[in-house]
Amino acid sequence: MKKNYAINDFNGKIIMLYGLFLLLSISIYGQSQSSENTIINVDWDVCRYYPSPNSHKSTIKAPDHIRQKIANGGGGCSNFIVNYNGFTPQAEAAFQFAVDIWSNSIESPVPIRVSANFGPLGAGVLGGAGPASFRTVSGSGFPANTAFPIALAEKLTGSEIASPPATTSTDIIATFSSTANFYFGLDANPPINQVDFVSVVLHELAHGLGFLGFGTVPTDNTGTPDPNPPVVGVLRNQGFLSPWDIFIENGTPTAMTSFGDPSAALLSEFTGNNLFSNGPIATSQNGGVKPSTYAPATFSVGSSYSHWDNSTFPTGNPNSLMTSSIAPGEAIHNPGLVTLGFMEDMGWSICGGSLSVKELTLDTIEVSPNPFNSSITIRVSNNFNDDYNISVLDINGRVIFNETEKPINGSIAISNLDELESALYFIKITNKNNGASITKKVIKN
Ligand SMILES: [Zn+2]
Repeated sequence: MKKNYAINDFNGKIIMLYGLFLLLSISIYGQSQSSENTIINVDWDVCRYYPSPNSHKSTIKAPDHIRQKIANGGGGCSNFIVNYNGFTPQAEAAFQFAVDIWSNSIESPVPIRVSANFGPLGAGVLGGAGPASFRTVSGSGFPANTAFPIALAEKLTGSEIASPPATTSTDIIATFSSTANFYFGLDANPPINQVDFVSVVLHELAHGLGFLGFGTVPTDNTGTPDPNPPVVGVLRNQGFLSPWDIFIENGTPTAMTSFGDPSAALLSEFTGNNLFSNGPIATSQNGGVKPSTYAPATFSVGSSYSHWDNSTFPTGNPNSLMTSSIAPGEAIHNPGLVTLGFMEDMGWSICGGSLSVKELTLDTIEVSPNPFNSSITIRVSNNFNDDYNISVLDINGRVIFNETEKPINGSIAISNLDELESALYFIKITNKNNGASITKKVIKN
């Protein structure tokens, strides 16, 4: 069998189905090495993003360094090329703002091509999006029997994957409700009765980049579980897993991949309120706790399995972007470190450096004031219950101070530094639980 590309001949595409609802469905069809195509449809809604029933005023802006970069017109770590259909200039500006946040959050050497549409969606649905296709990636280091969202497959192989006859591919297809009451401002300050469009786009683009698994229930061509209520859960899509599926386990912990597929046992896992991602970087960014995925008692197509759990990450939580609903009045313009950590677990690279478990990042540790006088405060934004070793060294490497402390309300204070000479010092902070460490320069006034 001859292969011309690192990409296996395994294609997929999203088919938009217009019926009772407009459904976003994924079908994967295997393409044999010959010219014969075998098309297999496994249809389900990737995301039915709903407004939550109660309004909730909440503002989470994009990270400061990203807002500064956008304001200065600085390029990101990835290049999104968007084809807009049915957008007003205002809607396009809001979509572009969300694109700019993602392009400053993840890295790819290959352009990410997005088809962005306004259209009719099911009653109450704000938007839906997904990868335009999934592809397997051959080569060492890539898990077997895994199909990657195409934007990620292109990032991993460093090359454009064609969708013949075109020489490029659409990577993400996103559709937004033409009847929803959206707020198109960029200031993360939507009125209490409007849904923040930037937040919705940010959410849907995450799905398009690969924030979704194949776990679902069999559905008919309107997206209704078939039979209703469903009797089995399904994990593999035409025998393939997505990178998401590899990391999902229950509280025991038992991996979803070890259950019969399809099976009633799998359905009870999907509806047991007891599913977690064991992605190591996501877990590290969640304070050492495996983040909980949405697994309500009734399987909800387009919500269950492929979102974070709403009660674990409620409105206002910095990691709430990828829960299954958004409140009118809520703005969240930051993907959040748990979501970015899981993107990195699945194969993405993070703009500005790894969130890897071996390092503390500038995002998670803050040392102030700098310059300091008599005391220094170290603030941690996750891993609150871990022990931290703090050592202060002078320019010759002599240890001036060395203690292990546990944060109180996220802070560790070092005091009685009055008598230190005015000079440059190094402060080394080591998380004793996972071995991660960071060293920062500080100046004594
Ligand atoms: Zn969603």
